[in-house]
Amino acid sequence: MKDSTARLTGRRSFLFASAGVMGAAFWADETLEAVPQNTRTDSRPSDLKITDLRVATIARAPFTVPIIKIDTNQGISGFGEVRDGASKNYALMLKSRILGENPCNVDKIFRKIKQFGFHARQGGGVSGIEMALWDLAGKAYGVPAYQMLGGKFRDQVRCYADTDTTPDPKVFAARLKTRMDQGFTFLKMDLSMYLLYKTPGTITQLSGRTPQELNNTQHMFTGNDITPKGIEVLADYVAQVREVVGMEIPIAADHFGHIPVNTCIKLGRALEKYNMAWLEDMIPWQQTELWKKITDSIEAPTLTGEDIYLKEDFIKLAREHAVDIIQPDLATSGGILETKKIGDACQEYGVPMAMHIAGSPISFLACVHCAAATENFLVLENHSFDIPWWSDIVNGIEKPFINKGFVKVPEGPGLGITSLNEEVLKQHLAEPGYFEPTPAWDKDPSNDRLWS
Ligand SMILES: [Mg+2]
Repeated sequence: MKDSTARLTGRRSFLFASAGVMGAAFWADETLEAVPQNTRTDSRPSDLKITDLRVATIARAPFTVPIIKIDTNQGISGFGEVRDGASKNYALMLKSRILGENPCNVDKIFRKIKQFGFHARQGGGVSGIEMALWDLAGKAYGVPAYQMLGGKFRDQVRCYADTDTTPDPKVFAARLKTRMDQGFTFLKMDLSMYLLYKTPGTITQLSGRTPQELNNTQHMFTGNDITPKGIEVLADYVAQVREVVGMEIPIAADHFGHIPVNTCIKLGRALEKYNMAWLEDMIPWQQTELWKKITDSIEAPTLTGEDIYLKEDFIKLAREHAVDIIQPDLATSGGILETKKIGDACQEYGVPMAMHIAGSPISFLACVHCAAATENFLVLENHSFDIPWWSDIVNGIEKPFINKGFVKVPEGPGLGITSLNEEVLKQHLAEPGYFEPTPAWDKDPSNDRLWS
């Protein structure tokens, strides 16, 4: 694989030289037009063209993530990734639509391909390509992605680290205490009805359906419920956690299970005295009116959004004040610029933005640039803090990635990654093949126009 660092150094040398840094006399007999012909051709962003798109899929990061590499005619490559758990084909089917385009025209390409994305994992291809385009544009012009979005609101981004759940509140409280010792200033817990399975009298199950069926049934239709005793047990679980970590540090809660709207309200009220940062995805995001009912009925903040593609449905939630906080996953929502637009639009309605992510350092860094450049940002997720090799798959970023609960906004071009660590990546492939050629996706004749 070609090393883009050397090429960037080449470009910088040219820029400094043309600015006269090396001395005007040196350039006296040269014209600026002649210089690029004797220099690396990657100093001409206007001539940059996409020539290839390839994929390498890694596993147990902790999730499966297809990493994409977009190559150009000037030797620089951009990196992106398809949403965790999604098919790499969501990106590959877009290859024929982006070949030959100048990757610096990020918004133009995004508008061309966004019709091929949809909610949840189906947004992964469009979003993954979008982040790779920003990486390329940044490398072509020698500036970090956040700068191209309008600059920073912050130099470091607050993170929280997901923490394995357990039915024993004392064990879980100790795990969160460890997070605080690691420097985290924001905590997250799963508060699931599954914590109740071994406690008699806490769960109502009407349906008799398999766990797989229930998993694919929206909350309102499962027939599953939590009894008043179950709600007491869950509230007591949080009480025991709060005894250990104190009341000041924010704690968000997620993964309640597929329970009815009225039970969400009862549980939300029972948790109010524990100062929750937010209650996440209690019901599916599509249920705007039901979300509003929950949000209007409880004082604890509500949140949704990790499966929403494009800004329009976020704006609807914010405009209706159906939730208190929105939470896009940049690898689903449409990428870096669309997520900044989501944050900015929701800010107009007084709604802050947390950010969901369950991917590799590539999409994590895309989130960091977006978070830096979006004023109403609150906090960014990280699922991989306990995976030692996770941050090693990229080079060029200061380690440790997350230092005392914050990640420094990278100042390198694009996402800030100079290269991928091939040795580490190859140890964690989900399937054979490391950025193999993808000629089958070069052509796909189709009239993609959405109107007639
Ligand atoms: Mg979630």
